Amino acid sequence: MFSLVERYFGWLQKDNPTGDVQYYPIIKNNYQSEIIGLYLVGDITGLPLLKFATKQGHEVISKIAQELAEEKATTQAATQVTTQTDYDVAIIGAGAAGLSAALQAKKENLKYIVLEANRIANTILNFPSGKLIFAEPTTITSPSILPVTEATKEDTLTAWYKVLEQEKLSICEGAKVQGIKKNSDGIFEVLIENAPSLFARKIILAIGQSANSRKLNIKGEKLAKVSNKLYSPLDYQNQNILVVGGGDSAIEAALALVETGNNVTLSYRQERFFRLKPANATKTAQYIKENKLKAIFNSQVKEIHDQTVTLIVGKKDVTLPNDVVSK
Ligand SMILES: Cc1cc2nc3c(=O)[nH]c(=O)nc-3n(C[C@H](O)[C@H](O)[C@H](O)COP(=O)(O)OP(=O)(O)OC[C@H]3O[C@@H](n4cnc5c(N)ncnc54)[C@H](O)[C@@H]3O)c2cc1C
Repeated sequence: MFSLVERYFGWLQKDNPTGDVQYYPIIKNNYQSEIIGLYLVGDITGLPLLKFATKQGHEVISKIAQELAEEKATTQAATQVTTQTDYDVAIIGAGAAGLSAALQAKKENLKYIVLEANRIANTILNFPSGKLIFAEPTTITSPSILPVTEATKEDTLTAWYKVLEQEKLSICEGAKVQGIKKNSDGIFEVLIENAPSLFARKIILAIGQSANSRKLNIKGEKLAKVSNKLYSPLDYQNQNILVVGGGDSAIEAALALVETGNNVTLSYRQERFFRLKPANATKTAQYIKENKLKAIFNSQVKEIHDQTVTLIVGKKDVTLPNDVVSK
């Protein structure tokens, strides 16, 4: 049982697996994992959209509140609560999913805590400045009071902070969870870096996927010009930039860098783009047609040097002038 929980963390923290294939922990019904009492919500479940994350965070609490009520109804469980646990539920991660779970946990009068390794809404904070957040899918409505609307990153964060200011949630920033153990009495021990463990009856893992940054495993990957995150496209002008990938995140970085006046090339392993958000697909096609953006499909980055980057395209090496790599 212990090793199973630790295996999740190993997978999440060690950037593994890399590349296009991703394996997700097995989730049974109602967000519960193979381990009774351990729930997964948000990006970690494989649905990388804010609306799903807020919806799942909200819904998982209803399930947990019901279970806790049933458990507390038995004398044995009630004894455990009073003697061994600090919290009904420990929520790991203060992103869209974790915050929505905390808002609902407060409403349900649960004893909860949110443990966040970085800052509240860290993933959104790391979006490029001015990024427009798409509130997709339009057919889904989230019951969470954490708003997800089509708005810039900055306006979204302002709206979120307003809700958090009103609700005064119990959140520990800078609390990185290093492991979780399920003890023989069924209580979870949450191991926190440089802090004492805490104990909870239920765990919600809402840690997203930001720890799983792409690794190319090639020469030059550690050069200072190579970055995982594009904080502000305005920091770049008249640069030769290679963006690696063909998903929405890579596309949005590439489009933003074109718009701030750079010479941008996308390197993508696949032969075409798949399932892009419609607005991204339209703009990408337009920029490619207007020669503002170059997309090299069926390509892989081979080596990165100070002023160039070499791709393998089909069976040939192609070297391009390069100042920045975004992966
Ligand atoms: C560049 C980019 C653009 C995107 N654009 C859109 C968009 O336009 N529309 C949309 O709907 N979605 C978009 N997404 C997806 C959206 O950001 C995610 O779906 C959403 O953030 C998922 O929420 P989450 O709570 O599951 O995870 P996150 O928001 O990633 O939150 C997870 C939190 O857990 C914390 N954490 C991780 N490990 C630990 C640990 N060991 N201990 C404690 N805390 C930990 C992290 O620091 C983080 O704050 C985009 C994503 C990216 C990367």
